[in-house]
Amino acid sequence: SIKGKTAVITGSNSGIGLGVATELARLGANVVLNSFTDREEDHALAAELAEAHGVQARYIKADMSSPEECRALVEQAGVCDILVNNAGIQHVEPIESFPVEKWNAIIAINLSSAFHTTAAALPMMRKAGWGRVVNIASAHGLTASPFKSAYVAAKHGVVGLTKVTALETAEEPITANAVCPGYVLTPLVEAQIPDQMAAHNMDRETVIREVMLERQPSRQFATTEQLGGTVAFLCSDAAAQITGTTISVDGGWTAL
Ligand code: NAD
Repeated sequence: SIKGKTAVITGSNSGIGLGVATELARLGANVVLNSFTDREEDHALAAELAEAHGVQARYIKADMSSPEECRALVEQAGVCDILVNNAGIQHVEPIESFPVEKWNAIIAINLSSAFHTTAAALPMMRKAGWGRVVNIASAHGLTASPFKSAYVAAKHGVVGLTKVTALETAEEPITANAVCPGYVLTPLVEAQIPDQMAAHNMDRETVIREVMLERQPSRQFATTEQLGGTVAFLCSDAAAQITGTTISVDGGWTAL
């Protein structure tokens, strides 16, 4: 059981990260929320989780594009039994015009941050005698799309880092796995639906089915709750021998 364990979830003031934090808190874990902002509403999210689930919850500001801040996040948390590397950004443009600063930011936030937080967290997991590293990769960690060079490279890198983390901890009660979501209905995706409906002159159901979920055979979005459940499973005792692998939550995307 993860009751009483402490989970650090990077990029968790919205979307999948918040869904994961909510599910882990529901199961009794103490949670550390994170993003690069330091607003009242960020801290309020932590207070709400603490109140709703009777756990300890804190928000710690740290910019995952900075190696020092990645490591400081884990140090400040003090305990890190469960590390969920979720922070991520996207930029879509052909390789020849892809801005160098966007490439560097995506590699830093989507890939290098997981290296730095893992380096800081493993000694704590070893000391505690238990640990779970869950990296939120993507269907783009296993397949590619044009115009997403940095994102696809970073997510494939995350899958590789996950395997190495698993091998370096293989004989210990620590596991490392990657979750590979397809298209997930986050606030960001929800906000694109009206624009897509207008651009294609389609109703909501049709634009979701025919345009947005063209590559997702189920023709349904995954939900942040389902991602939370997948991470919780990887943290459970049933998953103790699952390490160094990927779990796709993509409605069949990678089966195509
Ligand atoms: P989101 O934009 O709602 O969440 C991203 C989170 O990362 C936010 O909390 C944001 O504040 C945080 N973040 C961004 N830059 C940061 C930085 N420099 N430092 C710290 N935090 C930072 O998007 P999401 O869809 O919930 O994405 C979460 C993860 O899931 C990402 O790694 C993304 O690549 C991955 N993913 C999402 C989908 C999808 O369809 N939504 C599919 C596959 C993978």
